[in-house]
Amino acid sequence: MVKLKASYAIRGDDVVVITVSDKKETWTETYDYQIAELMFEDMYDLPCGCTVEPDGICHHGVKSPLLILEMI
Ligand SMILES: [Zn+2]
Repeated sequence: MVKLKASYAIRGDDVVVITVSDKKETWTETYDYQIAELMFEDMYDLPCGCTVEPDGICHHGVKSPLLILEMI
């Protein structure tokens, strides 16, 4: 399985932007939540197409937003 490189950014009013890339392509997922609201989500859609739980890491090695933001 391909491992993807993920980076996270917080833009403007606490909007969380996740960018995932391999050598050829880049995907982004924007979470239009305040950070405080993000914590109350049950599942997170990742740019690679996977869905993870708050403490989850997908099989590409992409962590949930909460893990990468060190909120849990
Ligand atoms: Zn994935």
